[in-house]
Amino acid sequence: MRTYLGKVGFANRIFALLLALSLGMSSFLFWSVKTHAEEEIPAYSGSASVELNENVPGFTTEEITTKSYEYYGELDKQGRCTPAMACLGKDLMPTEERQSISMVKPTGWKQNKYPGLVDSDPPYLYNRCHMIGFQLTGENANEQNLITGTRYMNVEGMLPYENGVADYVRSTGNHVMYRVTPVFEGKNLLCSGVQIEAYSVEDKGKGISFNVYCYNVQPGVIINYTNGSNKADPNYKKSVSADEFVVTGGTGGTTVDRSAPAKSNDAASSGTTYVVNKNSKKFHNPTCDSVKDMKEKNKMYYEGTRDELIQQGYDPCKRCNP
Ligand SMILES: [Zn+2]
Repeated sequence: MRTYLGKVGFANRIFALLLALSLGMSSFLFWSVKTHAEEEIPAYSGSASVELNENVPGFTTEEITTKSYEYYGELDKQGRCTPAMACLGKDLMPTEERQSISMVKPTGWKQNKYPGLVDSDPPYLYNRCHMIGFQLTGENANEQNLITGTRYMNVEGMLPYENGVADYVRSTGNHVMYRVTPVFEGKNLLCSGVQIEAYSVEDKGKGISFNVYCYNVQPGVIINYTNGSNKADPNYKKSVSADEFVVTGGTGGTTVDRSAPAKSNDAASSGTTYVVNKNSKKFHNPTCDSVKDMKEKNKMYYEGTRDELIQQGYDPCKRCNP
C-alpha cells in the first residue's frame, strides 16, 4: 500500500513538473508575440472599449504634422492588416457616396447570422470594418484598411470615437493624428481588437486626445480567433445593462453605422449592386443562380441599399438572401 501511494505521489510530481514546464513554455510563446498594445489590455468585462496608457496616445513629436496624409500598412504574410495611420484633415473627407466593399474578404471572415444577438438586419456577426472609417478618409474597398470586425466592435466600440473625431475635424478644420492598430495574437486570423489613438494637432490635444482599445467580441457569441469561426453561447442571457442604455441615449437614438454613414444599417448591403427582376419583383445578389436564369428584359441592375429596394416594393430572394 505504501509503495503504491509512493508511486502515485511520484507520478503526480512528474505530472506537476510537466504541467509547469508546458505552462512556462506557452506563456513564453505568448509573451514573445505580444504587441506593445497587448501588454496593457485587460480582458473584456462588459464594456466595448477601455483606455490604454491612461488614455495618452503614443505619437512621437516627429510623427505629428499639420499636413494631411493617410497611410495603410502592407498586409502581412498571412494576409492580415497592419496599422493604418493618418493626419486627418477636412481635405481627406469623402465627397462621394460610399461604394461597394463586398468583394473584399478580410482574414477571419466566417460569416454567420445571429438573430436576437446582433442588432442589424440581416443580423450578420461580422462587418467589413474600416480601420480608418469611411467618413474620415473616404476609402472604399481598400483591403489594407478593412478587417473582420464584429457588429458590436464596429458600432459600440469604434464608431463613437470616430464620430467624435469626424465632428471635430469638420467643425474646426484642424488636423487630427490618427492611428488604428489591429491586435492579432500569434498567428490568429481574426484580431482580438483594435487600438485607436488620436491627437488634435493645432490645439495640442485640447480638442481630441485618446488612446483606446475596442474589443472584437459579440456578447452571446463564442468566437474562435484562430480562424474567425463562431457559435452561439448556450449559457448567454441577454440583459439590458445601464451601459447599453447610455450608449443608445448618447447617440440620440440614431444608430449610424460607421461602415455605412447615413445609409442602411447593414454594412454588407450598403451601396451594393443588386440584380432586380422587374417581373417577379425579387432582388438578388449578382452571384445568385437565379440571375443566370433571368430573362434579359426582366433584369435591372440597382446600385443602392437593401432597405431602398424593400421600400420600393421589392422582396429579397430566399435563395441568396441579399
Ligand atoms: Zn437570389
